[in-house]
Amino acid sequence: MALILRNARLIDPQVGLDEVADLLIRDGRIVEVGHDLTAKTYVERDLSGKILVPGLVDIHVHLREHGFELKEDIASGTRSAAHGGFTAVCAMPNTTPITDNALAVEYVKARAAEVGKCRVLVSGACTKGLGGETLAEMGDMVAHGCCAFTDDGRGIKDTGMMRRVLDYAAQFDRVVMPHCQDDELVGKGQVNEGVASTRLGLEGWPAEGEELEIMRDIALCRLTGCPLHIQHLTTKRALDLVRAAKAEGLPVTCEVTPHHLVLTEDHIGDDYPTSLKVNPPLRTAEDAAGLIEGVVDGSVDVIVTDHAPHAEWEKDREFELAPFGMIGLETSLSLILTYLVDKGIIDYNRMVELMAIRPREILRQERVALEAGSVADLTVFDPNIEWTVQASDFLSKAKNSGFIGYELKGRATDVYVGGYATMENGVVVE
Ligand SMILES: [Zn+2]
Repeated sequence: MALILRNARLIDPQVGLDEVADLLIRDGRIVEVGHDLTAKTYVERDLSGKILVPGLVDIHVHLREHGFELKEDIASGTRSAAHGGFTAVCAMPNTTPITDNALAVEYVKARAAEVGKCRVLVSGACTKGLGGETLAEMGDMVAHGCCAFTDDGRGIKDTGMMRRVLDYAAQFDRVVMPHCQDDELVGKGQVNEGVASTRLGLEGWPAEGEELEIMRDIALCRLTGCPLHIQHLTTKRALDLVRAAKAEGLPVTCEVTPHHLVLTEDHIGDDYPTSLKVNPPLRTAEDAAGLIEGVVDGSVDVIVTDHAPHAEWEKDREFELAPFGMIGLETSLSLILTYLVDKGIIDYNRMVELMAIRPREILRQERVALEAGSVADLTVFDPNIEWTVQASDFLSKAKNSGFIGYELKGRATDVYVGGYATMENGVVVE
């Protein structure tokens, strides 16, 4: 039976489409885009007033399963993703056991196939146990469907080891996604070093702890030719390094999170909100403005959440003792709509590039476009819904968002993965 989605405003810069029209879907793929479409047998949905775009993908998500199911698991994490409008996420390997071999890759794939509400792409560790000393079984993981490599959560200290990781990944045309952090320089840093660390009396985390490692990894990218994707970049100078690398023609891309765009170190008040303790830390207002410039001019390739769920008791501690990270899947799209699109800083086309097109390109995934033949992974949102972020509304097991109480405009309402609804009218389909 065919599915006809009617009267949504279809936006896809890949095919130069921005008009109110219908989509006819059969066997998981788009069959036709046009007006007054019909089929022999079909069900239809009226999406008047809503915007439909190629399905959103978040390439930096911590699903926590195996090992940390008290924070999140694949069932709850992918429900959270669907609720936020995502059709796919890329799971980070810092679980227990760590995803550094084919069996662990297979586990995540199998579990996602069983209980997932979106596609789950699996990234593998660069080094065994994220230890930075021995190569992980990268080739074997690629053979089992691993789409990228990262030791997310820490930097790879040994420059020779990082070079081997890049040399090895390049053979498989897989991107390496470093969490750029000089661990020794960052030390026990809690917040951005400078005004914030002085004001709060907390140990500082210098911007240079990130920038030095980005500089090194770009140099190694030049040496090896391996595609390099800088995770959660946070400073203006770091972005200038990426700009220069791109101008040189190096295969370097980068991502930023909504929290590093919308929040700054100034938001961390003297109530020491642990929900704003993130890695890398919130930086200065000048940095955030610089990142937004990069989102506009194309230096930033992708928006990701770095969705990092933690149990309430873990965050409900002194600032220094609380773990780093905040959740993001259920607020990401709405934050980008509210703070960038609605303010006229970027348009819908650019948003689709940042959240649907570039993520797939970087992870070597099949293109999804609003055209006949494409897989029907689709995100539908209502740009006019006004809502207040509430912990009780999250489908994530965790509630550690830095945006509770924020009033946002625009929200995902319907999501289709391979032509099947995973969310309808704002409710995740069970
Ligand atoms: Zn990270």
